[in-house]
Amino acid sequence: MRPDSDCRLCGLCEGRTQIVLPDGNPDTGIIFVGEAPGENEDLEGRPFVGRSGKILAKMMEEAGYGRSEVLITNTVKCRPPSNRDPKPEEMAACRQFLESELYDAKLVIGLGRSACRDLMGYEGKMDEVVNKITTIRVKDRDVRFLPTYHPAATIYNKVSREELRKTIAMVAEELR
Ligand code: SF4
Repeated sequence: MRPDSDCRLCGLCEGRTQIVLPDGNPDTGIIFVGEAPGENEDLEGRPFVGRSGKILAKMMEEAGYGRSEVLITNTVKCRPPSNRDPKPEEMAACRQFLESELYDAKLVIGLGRSACRDLMGYEGKMDEVVNKITTIRVKDRDVRFLPTYHPAATIYNKVSREELRKTIAMVAEELR
């Protein structure tokens, strides 16, 4: 299930240029979930095309696969004003679309605190859960879930960069 092109189920419709739908291959069942589209994504209509997307794509390339082999999406499909965090009611309004994307997943990768909080209900520090596979409930199914850092959090932080690299390598194993 996808949102209508003029979806107005939450207030994020007011500031968006366009809805940013998932990008990549849904057939492998590997789905990366970020928080929300940013400025570049809002303009291009594709998730993770800015600096964070470039970091992610480079790490995938180093691990031997491309972003076109996995599916990349966000918890909300419209850009929050000034890149603020999405509000709980906006995430709740967009949840039905996210759940339909994740329902048949083999592995969901949560990129960053906001996505992990939304999908796992986890409020703690990322370093306590990073790269530890758990399960999340998607409607009536348990789906494997891999929490990790958002690429933006790895720009100036070597530790989180290495953890994200580890995540990307774990995904390479899943794709084999
Ligand atoms: S964020 Fe989701 S629910 Fe809100 S307007 Fe955009 S598509 Fe609709």
